[in-house]
Amino acid sequence: MREAFRKRILVTGGAGFLGSHLCERLLTQGHDVLCVDNFYTGTKDNIAHLLDSPNFELLRHDVTFPLYVEVDEIYNLACPASPIHYQHDPVQTTKTSVHGAINMLGLAKRVHAKIFQASTSEVYGDAHAHPQQEAYWGNVNPIGPRSCYDEGKRCAETLFMDYRRQHGLSIKIARIFNTYGPRMHPSDGRVISNFMMQALAGEPITVYGEGTQTRSFCYVDDMVDAFIRLMNTPEPFTGPVNLGNPHELSMLDVARRIIALTGSSSEIVFKPLPMDDPWHRQPDISLARDALGWSPVTPLDDGLRRTAQHFREVIDAMKMRSSQRSRAMA
Ligand code: NAD
Ligand code: UDP
Ligand code: UDP
Repeated sequence: MREAFRKRILVTGGAGFLGSHLCERLLTQGHDVLCVDNFYTGTKDNIAHLLDSPNFELLRHDVTFPLYVEVDEIYNLACPASPIHYQHDPVQTTKTSVHGAINMLGLAKRVHAKIFQASTSEVYGDAHAHPQQEAYWGNVNPIGPRSCYDEGKRCAETLFMDYRRQHGLSIKIARIFNTYGPRMHPSDGRVISNFMMQALAGEPITVYGEGTQTRSFCYVDDMVDAFIRLMNTPEPFTGPVNLGNPHELSMLDVARRIIALTGSSSEIVFKPLPMDDPWHRQPDISLARDALGWSPVTPLDDGLRRTAQHFREVIDAMKMRSSQRSRAMA
């Protein structure tokens, strides 16, 4: 018999970077976890260590198609998150955000589940307000290369709020700012993964533009903590709530820190700034502090060290696979 506290929790995008950490944390808390993923950017490697758990189930499924399961809570994370990945097939990105949200909201409505949406700081676009507060409506280009993601996520927020107003659903919307940590995809083109892989390989570090643009980076463990706190907030709290680390720094600073931390001999090179690249980004997390009693606790250098260790292991595994291949061909 299931204990009263034990919930059946669906995590879409559960084989991705954030999703795999979330599945892991929910299992540790004693819940039953159903991980749904189409492996577009996520991998089985990210969840391989969970497969033996009797409380963990994996389903290969694309959220743009309907899904009929019985659950108590839904964390909707399915969506490619890095610019390279979401711009690879922009139509699919919008479909995943919008059709995926409709299907997961329809599911939540049918089974009376509470539902969490992984939204993003990108809903603020190239923000004029700084730091960004939830009340800011954003400055988003509707027709640019980032629009499939930004507008898809904005539309998903609209759907969540309308299912709330129209059907009384219990919803929680998180606006996630840049997050990093182990299990980031080594070739997702995001700044931390790029700089780490380049630094560890002794290759040039590619800073875009002059490197004066800023971001604020949150360590994955802190972010997962915030997700669960948000899901557990009492009614009528819905968010949107900013989740991120307010510690803001320039991309040139990030490059220098990673070089120092990895003891790399890499030089810094400058490349053109991508179109519509937001100029600066820093969350105002007053609401998260008040409503969730949360603020990030992992210092950047600690988080970067743990992330560097992960990328070292990734590089070792790549080398091992390549030497096995050469031996097999010899
Ligand atoms: P990720 O790419 O590692 O994970 C996304 C997961 O969704 C992958 O496992 C992918 O295979 C899966 N997926 C994609 N399309 C799908 C579909 N149609 N059906 C089923 N599964 C699908 O990215 P992440 O960094 O873990 O991001 C997770 C969520 O958090 C995303 O919704 C993203 O927009 C949001 N987010 C992340 C960040 C960040 O810094 N990591 C910032 C803001 C928002
Ligand atoms: N849906 C789903 N699983 C369910 C219930 C619904 O995937 O358990 C999908 C269904 O395909 C539908 C969407 O969610 O298209 C929206 O459902 P809703 O009930 O809001 O609208 P309707 O069924 O009237 O289109
Ligand atoms: N960036 C960079 N070099 C890289 C990758 C990214 O200078 O090799 C910059 C990018 O232009 C942006 C910032 O780092 O200004 C963060 O990029 P990322 O893709 O990680 O996230 P997002 O732009 O979605 O915040």
